[in-house]
Amino acid sequence: MRHVDVLIIGGGPAGISAAIWCKRLGIDCLLLEEQSQLGGQLFNIFNEIIDYPGMRTKNGIEMQREMVKHFVEMDCLYEVNTKVLFIDERSKTVKVKKQAKKQEICYTYLILATGSSQRKLGVPGEQQMIDRGEVYSASADGERLKGKTVAIIGGGDRAFEGAHLLSSKAREVYLIHRSTRFKAREQYVERVISNPCIKVMTDTEVTAIHGDRHVTSIDLESKNKEYKNLLVDAILIRLGVAPNVELIKGKVATAQNGLIVTDDVHQSSNPFIYAIGDACTTPLFSSISSSTGQGTIVAKHISSLLTEA
Ligand SMILES: Cc1cc2nc3c(=O)[nH]c(=O)nc-3n(C[C@H](O)[C@H](O)[C@H](O)COP(=O)(O)OP(=O)(O)OC[C@H]3O[C@@H](n4cnc5c(N)ncnc54)[C@H](O)[C@@H]3O)c2cc1C
Repeated sequence: MRHVDVLIIGGGPAGISAAIWCKRLGIDCLLLEEQSQLGGQLFNIFNEIIDYPGMRTKNGIEMQREMVKHFVEMDCLYEVNTKVLFIDERSKTVKVKKQAKKQEICYTYLILATGSSQRKLGVPGEQQMIDRGEVYSASADGERLKGKTVAIIGGGDRAFEGAHLLSSKAREVYLIHRSTRFKAREQYVERVISNPCIKVMTDTEVTAIHGDRHVTSIDLESKNKEYKNLLVDAILIRLGVAPNVELIKGKVATAQNGLIVTDDVHQSSNPFIYAIGDACTTPLFSSISSSTGQGTIVAKHISSLLTEA
């Protein structure tokens, strides 16, 4: 069975940074990524990135290119299209699937850099909509949504920012939230509430999304049990993010919000398993720079342990 000193699961900014640092410190390391390309959430960033020191890019794809170029130039070992299906923490082995093939890889230390994903509504029609590619960005898809009726679901910054951005393009914008309290910053809320082009619907939940070739309407249910079908051309789901921790549930300590609990060197409750990036960082503090910084800490800590051994 193949053995590596350090196995990294996830090829977003956190995993890429950890692999670059492992390489620099002479550690035998392999990174596994389930998607066909490294980069993680960088592929979802359509706005300019202005907060990563020394690298100001017009969007996430440009930053992905730079990071992967660096990673490849450093000769880091990696495999894409490779999903980790199971972790056996007692034998320190992972089961992976690459296309149809399954294999096992043994590790001395495991780094979880599995990131986070957008929360879903979990209603009929949602997955079909995603599979049809009806996933929009308020900043990048303004032209595509010009003159359309759009519903934005959520009560946080991204929902409010999206509603504000689209209000100058779309014909009608509905902001729909299941409660009357919003997590969004006050100035975002005020800007939307005072905008006559945006209709805010509170205490209202989406219960179904309709449409065969594209979204045509959504079903709504209010807290006082009023039901309504709203005709819309597009829906943007902005419910925040959840850490990708299914793989490790019950094997290391996790907090109530699902995040993996780590110490100051990012070691989990299992001394051979580390977590970095969005998998262990509260969304309020998550960023590309904190993820890459955590990758550095972990690689340096593991290097000191391997040197001691
Ligand atoms: C719209 C948007 C805008 C943002 N804008 C900014 C910004 O301007 N500035 C900023 O600093 N941050 C921004 N962020 C946040 C930033 O992108 C994240 O904090 C960062 O990408 C987290 O990196 P990560 O490596 O922890 O996780 P991710 O980027 O989520 O990468 C995790 C990777 O792990 C892989 N993976 C998961 N499970 C498995 C498995 N079982 N097997 C193999 N691979 C697996 C995933 O496919 C993914 O590629 C933004 C995020 C979004 C969504």
